Amino acid sequence: MFPTNLQFLTIQIRLLYIMTIQPRKRFAQHWLRSEKALNKIVQAAELSDSDRILEIGPGTGILTHRLLPLAASVVAVEIDRDLCQKLVKKIGRVENFLLLQGDILSLDLETNLAQFPTFQNPNKVVANIPYNITGPILEKLLGTIAQPVANTYDLIVLLLQKEVADRICAQPDSKAYSSLSVKIQYLAKCEFICDVPAKAFYPPPKVDSAVIRLRPQLIEPQANNPKQMETLVKLGFSSKRKMLRNNLKAVIERDRLLPLLEKLKVNPQVRAEDLSVQQWVALANSIGEVIINN
Ligand code: SAH
Repeated sequence: MFPTNLQFLTIQIRLLYIMTIQPRKRFAQHWLRSEKALNKIVQAAELSDSDRILEIGPGTGILTHRLLPLAASVVAVEIDRDLCQKLVKKIGRVENFLLLQGDILSLDLETNLAQFPTFQNPNKVVANIPYNITGPILEKLLGTIAQPVANTYDLIVLLLQKEVADRICAQPDSKAYSSLSVKIQYLAKCEFICDVPAKAFYPPPKVDSAVIRLRPQLIEPQANNPKQMETLVKLGFSSKRKMLRNNLKAVIERDRLLPLLEKLKVNPQVRAEDLSVQQWVALANSIGEVIINN
């Protein structure tokens, strides 16, 4: 569908506006200016008018503008005070928009929202996140294998660094498959939505980007001892070219590990990146039994 002349003019004005806002490096600010990418993000979020969105780092508000008419509410958390002032002016008084100034990593969203009874806890996250804190943001939203976040979100759509997106969504036996793939896929269903080139931003970052969609939900069956599984995954991937039996030597001797691998019908020369997430869980559970029984 092509935009009408008026829509086209509005888009152009918005793009000109964002070029006037000087980005700050320390907050990893890169303004998205691609309509195509914005459309993909919004589509991926599968929005309905009952959705309550959390947006991390609204920046110039280009994505916020798109989300507001499609959702019940948008709560945005932005660290940059100056930007917050601009954003409030830009968006104006909109009933379903709440801007919280603060650091997403330390802000207690629930306590903050308790002061605004018309804003319930968000059920979806839609955001073009600051790349320098991608890991901590993922952990804040999903938790870890050892400690998954209890009441997480129905759906999370993120624009992030392509290399990280690839790792999160990677399948076993591919170059990008890593401990991050196992960790995140343990906690959520992961889908790669699309690539977003560096030129889609002002200023263009040094890396390419991508949109992903996560549906938080623990894998089935789960690890009997999630903390132990987390340690095993970390150790297993610690030296990528080594065989698993060598990487895990410190926790389980080769003679004990080999029968377990055999039972799981896994080649004794297997490497960490050959095992699917389900196989990781099965292995962690059988290692757990051996360690407990001895
Ligand atoms: N969503 C905007 C901006 C993306 S750039 C757009 O698409 O154009 C990342 C944004 O995250 C910036 O606005 C930056 O100020 C904000 N940010 C950086 N660190 C943050 C933090 N710890 N908590 C909240 N916002 C943060």
